[in-house]
Amino acid sequence: MISIPTVTLGDGTIFPQLGFGTYRLRGAAGVDAIVSAIDLGYRLLDTAVGYENEAEVGEAIRRAGVDRDELIVTTKIPGRDHGYDEAIASARGSLDRLGLDRIDLLLIHWPNPRIGRYIDTFRAMVDLRERGLVRSVGVSNFTEPMLQELIDAAGVTPAVNQVELHPYFPQAALRAFHAAHGIRTESWSPLARRSDLQGERLIGDIASAHGVTPAQAVLRWHVQLGSTPIPKSAHVGRQRENADVFGFSLTGDEVAAISGLERGRLWDGDPDTHEEM
Ligand code: NAP
Repeated sequence: MISIPTVTLGDGTIFPQLGFGTYRLRGAAGVDAIVSAIDLGYRLLDTAVGYENEAEVGEAIRRAGVDRDELIVTTKIPGRDHGYDEAIASARGSLDRLGLDRIDLLLIHWPNPRIGRYIDTFRAMVDLRERGLVRSVGVSNFTEPMLQELIDAAGVTPAVNQVELHPYFPQAALRAFHAAHGIRTESWSPLARRSDLQGERLIGDIASAHGVTPAQAVLRWHVQLGSTPIPKSAHVGRQRENADVFGFSLTGDEVAAISGLERGRLWDGDPDTHEEM
C-alpha cells in the first residue's frame, strides 16, 4: 500500500497531499474503481452531488473496510442548492446517499455569483460543522475577491479552495492568496483532462530524467507547488502510478519550466461567468 503524506489544514484537519477524483465513476464498475483506490492507499475521496455517484462512494467505503476516520470524504453543494435552508437540506441529502453520519470536507461547488447566495450557503455549512455533521468547510472555483468577501462576511476562512489547476493554468496569484490566508489549494483536472498535456515534450523529458511517467512528473509538480491534486482514474494500474509520486523530487528549474507551459483555462470555466446548477 502507498503511504500518502499529509499536511494540516488551517482548521487543524490532517489532509492528504494527494487525493482521488471520482467524476464519471458510477455503477458497479465505479464502486470497484473507488474500492481499488482506497485499497491502494488513497484517503481523500472527491465526489459531488452533481457527479451522481455519492451512493457509489459510500458503498466503496463500506466495502473497502478501512477505518472510517482515516478517510476524508469530500462532497459539494450544487448551484441549485445555494441558500441557507437549501444548503442544510443538500448536505443532509448527501449524507443519506453516502450512508455516512459525517461529511469530512463540504465545498460550495461553484460560486454562481449571479445567484448571489454563496455567503448564506457558507453560513449554513459553518453551522453544519458546529453540529458535527461536517468536519471542514471549504469552497471550489472561488476567485480572490470572492474568498475575501466570504472571509469578511462569515468570519470563517474556508479550509480549502478546489480549483482548476494544471501546468497550462498554474494559478500563481490565487495560490499566493491561499498561502497568505491559510487556505489549502486543491487541483482539479490535475492531469489537464481535455488536453494532450502528457504528450508535451518538456513533460516527457523531465519524466525520463527521473525514470517516471509523464503523469507522475505532473502530479509531483502539484505536490511541490503545495497543492493537493485529485487525479481520477478508472484503472488500478494508473491509480497506483498516480499515487506513487513521493519517492522523487523535481528541481526548482523543472518546476518553473513546467509552470512555463501556462496558456490558460482548458475550457470556459471562468467562475465569474460560468453557471453550474
Ligand atoms: P484528471 O484527473 O486531470 O484526468 C482524468 C483523465 O486522465 C481520465 O480520462 C483518466 O483516464 C486519465 N488518466 C488518469 N491517470 C492517468 C495516467 N496515469 N496516465 C494517463 N491517463 C491518465 O481530470 P478530472 O477527472 O477532470 O479531474 C479530477 C477530479 O477533480 C474529478 O474526478 C473530480 O473529482 C474533480 N473535479 C472537480 C471540479 C470542480 O469544479 N470542483 C471540476 C472538474 C473535476 P482513465 O480513468 O481511463 O484512467
